[in-house]
Amino acid sequence: MSHSDFDLASELIARALRELAAGFSLPEGPARGVPGVERMREVLAEAAARMGDNYPYFHPLYAGQMLKPPHPVAHAAYSMAMAVNPNNHARDGGRASSAMEMEAVREIAGMFGWSEFLGHLTSGGTFANLEALWVAGRMMPGKRIGASAQAHYTHPRISAVLGLEFAEIAADARGRMDMGALEERLQQGNVGTVVVTLGTTALGAVDPLADVLELRKRYGFRVHVDAAYGGYFTLAGNLGSEARRAFDALGEADSIVIDPHKHGLQPYGCGCVLFRDPAVGRLYKHDSPYTYFTSSELHLGEISLECSRAGAAAVALWTTQRLLPLVRGGEFAAGLEAGREAALDLHRRLRQSEYAIAPLEPELDIVVWAMRGATVEESSARARAVFEYAAQRDLHLALVQMPVEMFEGEPWKEAGASRAGGMVTCVRSVLMKPEHRLWMDEIWTRLEGAMWKAAEKSGQRP
Ligand SMILES: *Cc1c(COP(=O)(O)O)cnc(C)c1O
Repeated sequence: MSHSDFDLASELIARALRELAAGFSLPEGPARGVPGVERMREVLAEAAARMGDNYPYFHPLYAGQMLKPPHPVAHAAYSMAMAVNPNNHARDGGRASSAMEMEAVREIAGMFGWSEFLGHLTSGGTFANLEALWVAGRMMPGKRIGASAQAHYTHPRISAVLGLEFAEIAADARGRMDMGALEERLQQGNVGTVVVTLGTTALGAVDPLADVLELRKRYGFRVHVDAAYGGYFTLAGNLGSEARRAFDALGEADSIVIDPHKHGLQPYGCGCVLFRDPAVGRLYKHDSPYTYFTSSELHLGEISLECSRAGAAAVALWTTQRLLPLVRGGEFAAGLEAGREAALDLHRRLRQSEYAIAPLEPELDIVVWAMRGATVEESSARARAVFEYAAQRDLHLALVQMPVEMFEGEPWKEAGASRAGGMVTCVRSVLMKPEHRLWMDEIWTRLEGAMWKAAEKSGQRP
């Protein structure tokens, strides 16, 4: 998304709104009038000015957190549909958009090889995970939810909301769920569900799903895959062999969460939850006294914990998938592949840099590295300095706390590691935009400048 993408989106929106209006032929009643257009322009200009106080998330030099600009066609479709403002709770509130949601969700499920399933969109990944774990709790009453120490921070909290005990499983030095630790936990008993993360939020690490499924045969538990971030990478043709093996096993999971508003080119809020066994639909059973009158067909509110949901989100997703089908070898997949190439490129450069410690080979499109320094404190301070100096050069990165064990062999492993709580502040870059690959020389020039300055400032250039 660039300034010209904004222009493109507004042109598309204007045209789509005219087409939408033409679809409703209703009598012109007494005019409500639109008072104060001038005042609307004024307050909008004020709002636009306020919005300038943001990092430029849409620009390739924004390479920090998980923020990916919506595709112009998603932007346009959302705005167009919002003029009708449908509610996908029930067909009464969103007839066309409910049908479009079912079609779009079927295409997402198709990526994982599912044709018979139950699923729908949600306001985001957290709510989608809540639903999956709510179902898991109903299926495995009184049993624990297990997830790795690198799983999304909301899993322990969701478990608490649901009144389910949570068991943290240790992660290995590459940020993936440790299979030895998992098996030990399973032997202690009472684990009902294991949350497997394909694409952790911090590192983009891919838990070994196929190995977890092997353990399921022996211990019998539900497998929920949190692929909120990484799910779409199943379409990428350039994954490493271990990640590929995990993604190829996705169809065997009991439930999957994937976020179209992360890698699916959608505006917030658009998450998605899928269940392999459609029969879990019976758990939702309720009869809304208000909304289910006009159709004998399924209302999405009958299989969703949320009531009102934006129909516009479904329309945006449907339209985007129409333009960019979810297929291997397609244009959408090429965008994911480009981001991963950018990450591998950045990682190669960091490995050769005298300033960085970069043992963590990216599994998706996220790069995390520590800065060289005599102690953990010094390394952390330098990471913070790199973040600042890069921002001064218009390159926007992120920071993340990582266990020092991930940087084994560093002289500071012992020195000060426990003082810092066993964690070191690292620099993190999420290279979600396809343009990042072509911008890598530019990104690197700015990053190297920032790393040089951080080392110079502390008077300890290596
Ligand atoms: C982002 C993310 C979530 C939370 O999703 P939201 O859409 O932000 O609510 C959950 N799990 C993982 C792995 C994520 O990356």
